[in-house]
Amino acid sequence: MLTIGVDVGGTSVRAAVVDQHGEVLETHRVPTPSGGPELNDAIASTVRVLSDRYPVAAVGLAVAGFVSEDRRMVRFAPHLAWRHVAVADELSAQLGLPVVLEHDANAAAIAEHRFGAAIGARVAALVAIGTGIGAALVIDGEVFRGARGVAPELGHLRVVPDGRQCSCGKRGCLERYCSGTALAATAAELLRAGDEPSVLRELAEPTGVDVAEAAEAGDPLARRAMADLARWLGEGLALVADVYDPEVVVIAGGVSSSAHLYLDAAREHYARTVTGAGHRPLADVVVARYGDPAAMIGAAALAREHVLQAPKAPFGG
Ligand SMILES: [Zn+2]
Repeated sequence: MLTIGVDVGGTSVRAAVVDQHGEVLETHRVPTPSGGPELNDAIASTVRVLSDRYPVAAVGLAVAGFVSEDRRMVRFAPHLAWRHVAVADELSAQLGLPVVLEHDANAAAIAEHRFGAAIGARVAALVAIGTGIGAALVIDGEVFRGARGVAPELGHLRVVPDGRQCSCGKRGCLERYCSGTALAATAAELLRAGDEPSVLRELAEPTGVDVAEAAEAGDPLARRAMADLARWLGEGLALVADVYDPEVVVIAGGVSSSAHLYLDAAREHYARTVTGAGHRPLADVVVARYGDPAAMIGAAALAREHVLQAPKAPFGG
């Protein structure tokens, strides 16, 4: 059975035809329009380009936003036009196919659990480190989403009272210390704090990518910024382990491409600071198998499972 997974992002709508092994057969992408009806139309036309060429059974949408508990509605998505829109039912009617909806980090976690770095794990966590932190938890093969559909907000756990201001309105959230944005902020603090030589001084406003590249090249100040990120990631891993005790934690997101610069140090910090350190098995902390296509592959898998579980109600609901 083939299904389509769609990653509905702030800049582009990307769709992939995916088979039962998680293999992507073909992809198609269009820019994300700013209006709500136009967004539905863009998704429908992107899906049709692929469904005209492959016999697909269902569609899964991965959305960066708050999805309702029943996963039929998008409540709010900061970078998309949808506000309390019954996206799954509207697109199902438009396409004549079953449509399921999922938060993008959850979809990525499903891709890793079904086909990737967390295959077979009974309790698996995904920590996506990018501009901020996205997190997901899979327990007994199912996404854990809490009673209202918004768990787990790992990135917004406060780790430093009165710390760095976060875009969520709070101060001192974990993602202010462990993300691409955090890497830039830490480097800026180190640059201001002294006159240690660094290639980053030649840049007006170094980004997280600049810091990662400088660390890769051996720049000592950039390496210290990376070590700080590693420590905070270790703190985050210890928090995840204390609350959920996962078998495996999958590190994903853009900053995971620099994992060789911080992951060992993060593991060590986690192993030292987790409750009962030295007397309990630790989670495997591994880098994600899938990069960019993860959310599409996971959404397609959820669409396939939806059809297999509910053959008499192919239009969902
Ligand atoms: Zn926050």
